[in-house]
Amino acid sequence: MKILEDRIRQDGVLKPGNVLKVDNFLNHQMDIALFDEMGKEWARRFADKPINKILTIEASGIGIAAIVSRHFGNVPVVFAKKAKSINLEGDVYKTKIESFTHKKVYDVIVSKKYIGPEDHVLIIDDFLANGCALQGLIELVQEANATIEGIGIAIEKGFQQGGEIIRSKGIQLESLAIVDGIDDASGTIKFREQ
Ligand code: 5GP
Repeated sequence: MKILEDRIRQDGVLKPGNVLKVDNFLNHQMDIALFDEMGKEWARRFADKPINKILTIEASGIGIAAIVSRHFGNVPVVFAKKAKSINLEGDVYKTKIESFTHKKVYDVIVSKKYIGPEDHVLIIDDFLANGCALQGLIELVQEANATIEGIGIAIEKGFQQGGEIIRSKGIQLESLAIVDGIDDASGTIKFREQ
């Protein structure tokens, strides 16, 4: 998606450890007009899917998912919570996710009240790196006996393994920008042709 690639070129900063900082428009300050365009694009790519719920994970996925819902008939947005203790409230689906950026393992939960067998779920997240976050979200949906209709990712880091793992499961994965690395000669970010 050209406007997202242009924005990453303009404002993205690659940090040591393969971390791409995009705080200016995605992870700290949020560009709502851009999120709106992203929602429009995912609605086009998933037009044939009977999506009735969006699932994301706190924190950065929430803002994106909320705007994206506007393009899917205002379907409810549920965000998986990173549980700080095992003292969990009520009946929940639970999994563990290892954070790429913080190198910590979190218990992640979703209440059984908000996802169930009747749901056709679109999973939305900001980044795809090694795929741990997505695999955790997929497990939660499967535990709930709901249907995964697809996954929308803003920025996939194509030089890490997550994209391959998820695509090999046969799930429709739509990443709006895929960063393949840095062009050594020019020092600019290289994107995969889509
Ligand atoms: P994964 O579980 O696929 O390894 O990592 C996905 C999660 O880690 C995303 O939800 C995102 O929060 C974070 N993440 C992974 N790589 C990056 C990155 O390069 N930049 C930023 N800002 N977040 C990242």
